[in-house]
Amino acid sequence: MEPAPGPRGSAKSDPEPVARGRSVVPPAPHAAPFVDVLQDLQVSPGSGLAEEEIMERRHHHGANIAHMRPPASAWRLLWHQFNSPIVYLLGAAAALALYAGQMEEAIAVLAVLAINGAIGFATELRAIRSIAALRRLGTHSARVKRDGLVRLLPAQDLVPGDIVILEAGDAVPADIRIIEAANLRVDESLLTGESITVEKTPAPVPGETRLGDRTCMLHKGTALTQGGALGVVVATGARTEIGRIARLIEEADPGHSPLERKLARLSRQLVVATFVIAGVIALLGVLGGRDTVLILEAAIALAVAAIPEGLPIVATLALARGMWRMARQNALVERLSAVETLGATTVILTDKTGTLTENRMTVRRLHFADGEVDLAEQGPDPALARLIEDPQAVSLLRIAVLCNGADLAGVDETGSGDPMEVALLRAGLLAGQERDRLLATHRLVRTEPFDPRSRMMATVHESGDGFLVAAKGAPEAIVSAASRVVLDHRETDLDDALRAEWLAQAETFGHHGLRVLACAMKMETRSTNDPFDDLVLVGLIGLEDPARADVPGAIADCLAAGIRVVMVTGDHATTARSIAHAVGLAQGLEAAEGDAVETVIEDGPAALSRIGIFARVSPEEKLALVKAYQAAGEIVAMTGDGVNDAPALRQADIGVAMGLRGTDVAREAAAMVLLDDAFPTIVKAIREGRVIFGNIRRFVVYLLSCNLSEVLVVAAAVLFGLPLPLLPLQILYLNLVTDIFPAFALAMGEGEHGVLRRPPRKPAESILGADQWGRIVLFATTLTAATLAAVVAAHWYALSETQAVTVSFLTLAFAQVWHVFNMRSVRAGLFVNEITGNVWIWIALALCGVLLVLPPYFAPLAGLLGVAPPDRTMWTIVLACSLAPLVILQAGMLLRRALVTAA
Ligand code: ADP
Ligand code: MG
Repeated sequence: MEPAPGPRGSAKSDPEPVARGRSVVPPAPHAAPFVDVLQDLQVSPGSGLAEEEIMERRHHHGANIAHMRPPASAWRLLWHQFNSPIVYLLGAAAALALYAGQMEEAIAVLAVLAINGAIGFATELRAIRSIAALRRLGTHSARVKRDGLVRLLPAQDLVPGDIVILEAGDAVPADIRIIEAANLRVDESLLTGESITVEKTPAPVPGETRLGDRTCMLHKGTALTQGGALGVVVATGARTEIGRIARLIEEADPGHSPLERKLARLSRQLVVATFVIAGVIALLGVLGGRDTVLILEAAIALAVAAIPEGLPIVATLALARGMWRMARQNALVERLSAVETLGATTVILTDKTGTLTENRMTVRRLHFADGEVDLAEQGPDPALARLIEDPQAVSLLRIAVLCNGADLAGVDETGSGDPMEVALLRAGLLAGQERDRLLATHRLVRTEPFDPRSRMMATVHESGDGFLVAAKGAPEAIVSAASRVVLDHRETDLDDALRAEWLAQAETFGHHGLRVLACAMKMETRSTNDPFDDLVLVGLIGLEDPARADVPGAIADCLAAGIRVVMVTGDHATTARSIAHAVGLAQGLEAAEGDAVETVIEDGPAALSRIGIFARVSPEEKLALVKAYQAAGEIVAMTGDGVNDAPALRQADIGVAMGLRGTDVAREAAAMVLLDDAFPTIVKAIREGRVIFGNIRRFVVYLLSCNLSEVLVVAAAVLFGLPLPLLPLQILYLNLVTDIFPAFALAMGEGEHGVLRRPPRKPAESILGADQWGRIVLFATTLTAATLAAVVAAHWYALSETQAVTVSFLTLAFAQVWHVFNMRSVRAGLFVNEITGNVWIWIALALCGVLLVLPPYFAPLAGLLGVAPPDRTMWTIVLACSLAPLVILQAGMLLRRALVTAA
């Protein structure tokens, strides 16, 4: 697109803006002719801004980022750590200790508070920073003219005055005043809520025009659905229209995933439950005539012990780590919530080209009314010779080269643009048809971009006195649009019998797995006439696009994981079936094509389950398909790349956009972006999603069973009138050690081996179902029983009170440490499983060991925690009683597996 000429725009496109003359303030950019806007911004559209000017403006306006609020400041996070009921509770405990004259204890409680806060702060800061870093990987780029050159820059580098070039599929990177527009339509739904696309032109509008009607402006956050534009940036970052409302949006959505919200709710419920339990215990203790201060303190410490304060932090850590692992495997998660939904996916709706295939196309066969050229048989060089000899082949390829939006510098270059169009340019070059040379004699005057609805594209060129129209598209579309055909170098009428013959020929290409394209042309007297009317069919082009080698394995993985894979393509059913066959997809299933798609959608679940391929699907049908599967109770992941795919991507539970060939619009609508466009990456991400969910479940079960065991031990002692087997500070210390290291290690796990060999979890399944609660209670009572057994043994050996407390404390502490091995899946092996295979677990174990053995032998800590150095007898009791739950529970798990396999 060439920049507009310098002089003021023609009168017809620049009506006098209303605001002029009435006010001394210069009119808003939408109310002024663009030349005035350019002048205000001191930029010429021909060369763009100069380097030194950019530096200054960047300094003045800042980066082009809409978020006013920094992504959570460190201070806020720190404050967040201490602004919680748990901290208030602990503070109360410290005050109480001070009141009772126990200075040391008060300090110890405050120290625990500080350590807990510091760990929470560091973890959350890291997790949030790493998520923010991931987000930055996914930022858009913009084509900008600076210093006379067009470059691709990160959108956040834009400054007011930058000259930006946009085309269909691009997201608008800032607020922009249009200078030139070609056939421009924009989706502003994000900004205005209006779902119909809007036509835009450079003509100014009255000053008071509403945002939604400012047709000479492009606003950040909207997207081009059609055509192209040249414009000048008038506002960036927080000064854009969307920037103004961004703060509102952010405040409404704090960016927590449903999972994090569920965990937060769980924590709140536990706080309430704990208060009740602690209250009851305090009451019982006081009624039993115990030392009031000690009981009150025990009740408070209990409350603190029972609340898994690390839970939300560890969850964020697990999610953030999962996101990183996915990113390393080329799956960029755009929404945190996608991480958990992924694992529940039951059906993947995938497109064909580029996802299942390599998207490295080559022209293989050319078909004309009276002959064929097969390039596969002859190898490149003889084929080249024959192509140039064959005038039909030359004229067919000329159409394909003219009606083309890609770029290719030489036969051996990779080129840019749609790989199919690149392949056409390459074949054209071999036949001596160079696009630039052709365009020099056939100036391009109009482009009808490829429309997935009509499945055709056309370009109009000057040619002699008239215009040459070059069209290409899906065979059935072009064949039905054409009325004549080239036969024996002459044009003949295309009757229905001939049409059927051509379609049969296209079908044959499809059987060989070739993607088929029909080309047509005509001469016109006017460039504005309908380019698809009355075309002359010239020939068919068959392109080969080999299936990706890694797809069959990934599809087999999906089958084993209970995930259905359904191909949804705009291409022909025969081509689709041939590719499906090559990758092991849709075996034993039918294909629905064209009108049949509607019927299947209407017929509902039973019909859907029969179909493995949907072919010749329109974008509207894609959306309807997603809804139909969801109505049938499926969790749908769906891939898409085009502007038209956005509604379906948004509707899907997991919208998957393509990073390489996808448009900004598709990316914006998607929950996940595949950086390599490859189907196997979706499967890897699903696996990762399942692993993360499993990890979160594991550490939640672990934390709650440990904490519950502490509550039960103290409760039992109070109920039976025994001396307290756990002192408040011991509980705090225990939680500092076991809540942190093993729980973190569990969150880092890589998952079980068979994680993809099981059906997906039920979407409604919560983190803690009846099964998990049952296990928590079972685990906690076993740990409690072991601790009480140690208490009894201590009594048996007539140990002193301090020695007895040392024994019960160490027993529960070590029992909790060993307990992490009970977190293995019942299906996994006793020795080889996801816990023993996780190095973090062993590191955590070593740390816990040191931190638990240390206190009795280290005088200051020993005094504080009220423990004494254990002798041989005591260590024997501790080891025997702490290992007992592990042995018993593992034996139970083996038994359960044996029963399940027997059944
Ligand atoms: P897929 O699901 O394989 O990506 P598409 O919806 O992209 O299928 O394309 C469907 C059909 O439309 C193709 O088989 C081809 O005949 C035609 N087609 C695709 N892209 C273009 C284009 N740029 N110009 C003309 N025709 C095209
Ligand atoms: Mg496509």
